[in-house]
Amino acid sequence: MSDDCLFCAISTGGKPADIVYQDEWVTAFWDIQPIAPVHILIIPNKHIHSVNEITEEDGPILAHILFVARDLARQHDVHEDGYRLMTNIGKNGMQTVFHLHFHLIGGRRLMGRMVS
Ligand code: 5GP
Ligand code: ZN
Repeated sequence: MSDDCLFCAISTGGKPADIVYQDEWVTAFWDIQPIAPVHILIIPNKHIHSVNEITEEDGPILAHILFVARDLARQHDVHEDGYRLMTNIGKNGMQTVFHLHFHLIGGRRLMGRMVS
């Protein structure tokens, strides 16, 4: 937990969010500025700055995030048509919140090879 971190505050209930799933390891909630009909953020409850700061011991949490993403995609009916699961890292990756998060984006045809 990092004191001045927005996503730590969301995972601990200090800041409201539209939470779709939570367990001891992860929290998933709707993005406040969705770019598609389905736009969910999946975060570890543990404060990790970005992929640059992951360690071997985070392996089970990272794997769990993928399983949660798979299940949420199914629950929101985007698993068959497809969706994007992505994480931005640092300045050039346009990361704006420095608590690791994965965007689950779907429900429409996404343009290009990546979100620009
Ligand atoms: P990034 O640019 O770091 O990859 O993505 C950060 C995401 O967090 C953005 O898509 C942004 O809309 C979302 N976001 C920023 N502040 C909040 C907030 O207070 N609540 C929620 N639910 N999402 C937020
Ligand atoms: Zn945090």
